[in-house]
Amino acid sequence: MELIFEISRPGRVAADIPASDVPVVNIEDKIGSKYLRSDIDLPEVAEIDLVRHYTNLSRRNFGVDLGFYPLGSCTMKYNPKINENAAALPGFTELHPYVDTESAQGNLQLIYEMQKYLSVIFGMAEFTLQPAAGAHGELTGVMMIKKYFEKKGQKRRIILIPDTAHGTNPASGALCRFDVMELHSSSEGGVDIEHLRSLMTEEVAALMLTNPNTLGLFERNIEEVAKIVHEKGGLLYGDGANANAFLGRTRPGNLGFDIIQLNLHKTFSTPHGGGGPGSGPVGVSKAIVDFLPIPRLVRTDDKYHWSEKFHDSIGRVRSFYGNFNVIVKAYTYIRSLGAGGLKHATDMAVLNANYVKEKLKPYYDLPYDRICMHECVFSGKRQVAENGVHTTDIAKKLIDFGYHPPTIYFPLIVPEAIMIEPTETESKETLDKFCEAMIAIAKEARENPEGVKNAPIKTPVNRLDEVLAARKPDVCWKKP
Ligand SMILES: *Cc1c(COP(=O)(O)O)cnc(C)c1O
Repeated sequence: MELIFEISRPGRVAADIPASDVPVVNIEDKIGSKYLRSDIDLPEVAEIDLVRHYTNLSRRNFGVDLGFYPLGSCTMKYNPKINENAAALPGFTELHPYVDTESAQGNLQLIYEMQKYLSVIFGMAEFTLQPAAGAHGELTGVMMIKKYFEKKGQKRRIILIPDTAHGTNPASGALCRFDVMELHSSSEGGVDIEHLRSLMTEEVAALMLTNPNTLGLFERNIEEVAKIVHEKGGLLYGDGANANAFLGRTRPGNLGFDIIQLNLHKTFSTPHGGGGPGSGPVGVSKAIVDFLPIPRLVRTDDKYHWSEKFHDSIGRVRSFYGNFNVIVKAYTYIRSLGAGGLKHATDMAVLNANYVKEKLKPYYDLPYDRICMHECVFSGKRQVAENGVHTTDIAKKLIDFGYHPPTIYFPLIVPEAIMIEPTETESKETLDKFCEAMIAIAKEARENPEGVKNAPIKTPVNRLDEVLAARKPDVCWKKP
């Protein structure tokens, strides 16, 4: 495809500016030539060429509005358009962040109510909506853990993290200068209780646990895990990225979690992953409330205002009050589904994942063969052993079938991992077609392995050097 610079022709324009009816001023005389550049080669194209160029570019992208997107752990569910309509209301989009609180009461009410909804849904005492993404929420949570123990006068330097955890968990721990220790998984795919017991000392500040974990498995011993951590005075931190598996069915607060971060863009259906910004609210139990970021939204005499008078706070973690428009979308999602709808969504997410798991089980290795939650994790080990076809080949082949590949090579404890998260928004027909494609690929891997190893063949480019593309992307056009 030609670049916009390559279709440029001198003098061609997309806009027709009327002749000036005010005196012409030479701007160079006013501000000097320092700020004026004549060396910027802007493309010159007609409106139709401009429209076609960007429309064609957009068609090379892939999103949930185009097709099935079973990217495990990312919860790529459909984003209802009503969320966008609500977030686009001028009262939300045109409010200046520096406006006085008196003129922003409606918007503050929405933030306040959202904090309350999340507190009820997740069983926490209070939420902050400041963090801009899940990883940012984790960092906020770990900062609060640090402050909590400082305040208690306890020196605890360790954070325990299971070997199935998302990479952002150890990163958040390390950024707050904790030593991260790896906790083993049991043969069942949950926390190895004996290993936890042996690691859990009074030097451990917290266990960061994802439940259900990244294998899509619910922690069967969660109450015991919480007890072991709490008995040594530690805190239980919940990575809530997988909350789509339990909305309305259980509450982290009731399971013993002290802090939990959410990913509104995953669980509460706002576009993400190149499609939009995120939001990573953090909920805390009563014991942690004082450490929440400031400013905190306070309601007195039916009026909302921001307060900074919380002396134990970790301070601010983001400018202004979070990604407000993402919060509006998630709020709309909660209001339009209601309590019963959220629960139904969770149930369907779990049902869909188990349906895919059962259908594909005869064709791909399933290392943890038990009822899963919202996602299932296969291994491509059999295909490697029998025909030298790797998980990456299977993923590339799926592109030729018109699907976004699942998450691959994660979690790290599953060799050749294929992590499929169908989400609740997909119909049985979509799941059946996807499973047929996966089964056809397993068959082709046996009968014609080269056909899988050479995929994709239907895309504008075949296989990229992914490391080079990620580390040294060539995105600068140089004038020939
Ligand atoms: C997505 C995810 C994160 C990180 O969330 P971001 O919003 O992408 O920063 C953390 N943990 C798990 C388990 C996740 O799936």
